[in-house]
Amino acid sequence: MKRAISSSLLLVTYLLLLINLWTLASSADNADQEFLKCLSSPFYEGIKLSEILYTPNNSSYTSVLQSSIQNLRLAGLTGQMPSFIVTPIIYSQVQIVVLCAKNHQLQVRVRGGGHDFEGLSYVSDQPFVLIDLINLRNITVDAGNGTAWVQSGANLGELNYRIAEKSSEFAFPGGVWPTVGIGGFLGGGGYGSLTRKYGLGADSVIDYRFLNYESNVFDRVSVVGSEDIFWAVRGGTASSFGIVLEWQIKLVPVPKNVTVFAVTRTLAQNATWIFHQWQYVAPNIHRDLYIKAKITSIKTADGKEKTIQVSFESLFLGPVDRLLNIMEKSFPELDLVRKDCTEMSWVKSTLWFANAGFPNGESLELLLNRNAFQKFYFKAKSDFVQEPIPAEALDGIWKLFFELEAGEAQIEITPFGGKMDEFPESALPFPHRAGNLYMMLEGVQWDNKTSPEKQGKLLKWLERLHMYLTPFVSKNPRASYVNYNDLDLGVGSKTYDEASVWENEQAKAQEKAQEKAQEKAQEKAQEKAVESQQGSTNRKGKRVEDGAPVTKKPVARELKRQKLSVRRAQKGVVISEGGASREKGKASVGEEENFVTAEDENYEVEKEDREIKDKEGDVERTRKPLSFLETVPRKKLPFVRGEVVDEWEKSGKNYTAFSDKLRGDVGRKAVFMPTPGQLPFASTGGTPPISTPPCNATSQQTTSKETTNMQGDLSQPSQSPRRSVRLQMKGKFTFENTPDDPIEL
Ligand SMILES: Cc1cc2nc3c(=O)[nH]c(=O)nc-3n(C[C@H](O)[C@H](O)[C@H](O)COP(=O)(O)OP(=O)(O)OC[C@H]3O[C@@H](n4cnc5c(N)ncnc54)[C@H](O)[C@@H]3O)c2cc1C
Repeated sequence: MKRAISSSLLLVTYLLLLINLWTLASSADNADQEFLKCLSSPFYEGIKLSEILYTPNNSSYTSVLQSSIQNLRLAGLTGQMPSFIVTPIIYSQVQIVVLCAKNHQLQVRVRGGGHDFEGLSYVSDQPFVLIDLINLRNITVDAGNGTAWVQSGANLGELNYRIAEKSSEFAFPGGVWPTVGIGGFLGGGGYGSLTRKYGLGADSVIDYRFLNYESNVFDRVSVVGSEDIFWAVRGGTASSFGIVLEWQIKLVPVPKNVTVFAVTRTLAQNATWIFHQWQYVAPNIHRDLYIKAKITSIKTADGKEKTIQVSFESLFLGPVDRLLNIMEKSFPELDLVRKDCTEMSWVKSTLWFANAGFPNGESLELLLNRNAFQKFYFKAKSDFVQEPIPAEALDGIWKLFFELEAGEAQIEITPFGGKMDEFPESALPFPHRAGNLYMMLEGVQWDNKTSPEKQGKLLKWLERLHMYLTPFVSKNPRASYVNYNDLDLGVGSKTYDEASVWENEQAKAQEKAQEKAQEKAQEKAQEKAVESQQGSTNRKGKRVEDGAPVTKKPVARELKRQKLSVRRAQKGVVISEGGASREKGKASVGEEENFVTAEDENYEVEKEDREIKDKEGDVERTRKPLSFLETVPRKKLPFVRGEVVDEWEKSGKNYTAFSDKLRGDVGRKAVFMPTPGQLPFASTGGTPPISTPPCNATSQQTTSKETTNMQGDLSQPSQSPRRSVRLQMKGKFTFENTPDDPIEL
């Protein structure tokens, strides 16, 4: 009798579920209806999809969709939004959605924190289902072993909070913005304030649980090929391969107290010179110290004019005294003083870094609040820089900034070096390691009142800035950070060879830009030569006659220059030509240099001019006199590719050139995002996935030994006791393991 009642109850529930889902389907087209029918198949009995499924007819559809759109530029788009949003609570629901989508030719997009710069996790040009991982954000910290399992829907703020709950001496090398999703972050490599000390976030991943396009779930050693996928998803964008359900990460030690500081310098406060020096210092300074730089334009104090402001924001893994000591020796130009610095716990520093107006002492609960952080309308591009940008070129950047209103654009600069130099470029599909001084994010932003014309202008400006930077950034190819998605770089390459076409075009464009720059330089040199013969105007537009300047300043400069040369000659300082090239191959790593370039010399002369200006009242704070290059030891750039590789090989690891990795079966797909709208690997075709249940089936039994390799080859046995089958279906598509029922290892 009891059995009869429970059966009828089940039947009623099932019928209600069907009615509900079929109502949802009333406005959907045929494919959509088929998809819904598939989801409601008796095969998936017991899984309440109605609670986690949203269609445009559903009243909460818009709020669910908008909830984690982080780039407001994409929030208003219509016509490219998902046909369905699913917010799974357990892994089996993710599997079902992927299977049904695959069977009914619906694209799948997966969303973590929603920070994708181009909205690729929730925008597509074809009908698609959005799997939003918001409900899969469980974090289990094992402080004893210094590890944690983190579900992909969690964000960096939640991770930092959960680690701190267990221990104040552990951290994860995450990013600087708390709401960034762990899935997207690690999928692109992931840098942050601990990168110089410990490498990328992806360098600290030790295992994963992954769902491929056939909806099979496996970990690092489950099946043939999973180690390759494990390599690929840590820097090659995880969504190119499938869905990472969770990550096992290694925690890293941090001191109980760290020190942070943020200081700003304007042009009148020598910002150009200090930033120029920063380029040499920040990637080479002690690896406990991370100093990022941010360039923007601001209004001057009287509000009448604009100036350039460079902010230096920093984390030091130690106390203030040690920090001041290092800064005094290695970066005296910044003139850091004790009152600029604050000691706090590591976890508080993550809130401080978000720079969202949270002073020291703010409640850590904010890390769990996904709505506490500002969202922006923005477009951005990125670059990697391998040689310091010459001072004259910085002036060109400032000029571009002056074309815009204050605050409309910024360049955020993250120094590398330190631990990053120890990995060969093929260690992960993040090749920007040794030899890269820093990464730049070039961005423009606006608000909801900005007119479309103005937005267009800002976007054009960004392109011009990007073009202007061409001669000073990485070449052949010009690299950009895969986590700073930029669709202007091209879409649609499915293979390495296809993408190489784009790469070659980029190389040609770069050559052209360089030729142009050279032509301009030649023209300038010719003009100068003519000027000195005929008499013309000087740099500031003042009239000069017969080669002799009308104003006295250039003469004074020349005298200063001569005085400096004499002083240097007395000290035995070498003066080399050719700007940054002085850094190459002259001293071994860690050895100090004691020479200056002609470019540096120009700078010192200009600096003296600026100091005079400062004294005239431009500077709000008293500063010690700045040290000059001849008294500041400079270190050689640590880029010695051969040595790095040798070290890697000595450590017993195999070195493969990054380009070779790219040409491999997995690697070649690793660095390019899938064509918007295509399921990764969808073209492999042929073999039906073993775990795909027929939509009208009532049950399907797989043995616990069955699993599939990446090609769907049933004959290939699983390679490890940690089998993916644990997460695959058993009987009527009920699952042995869910987040609440962890797998025993
Ligand atoms: C304000 C802001 C600050 C940032 N700060 C940093 C920083 O400090 N350091 C840094 O390295 N980057 C930073 N980024 C870039 C950020 O790392 C990337 O945008 C990242 O991809 C965002 O991940 P998400 O999960 O939040 O975004 P989403 O838009 O949800 O996802 C981004 C991409 O990853 C895919 N994806 C997400 N989860 C999974 C998964 N589980 N499996 C497979 N694919 C998945 C999505 O499909 C999409 O292609 C920042 C971005 C913003 C907007």
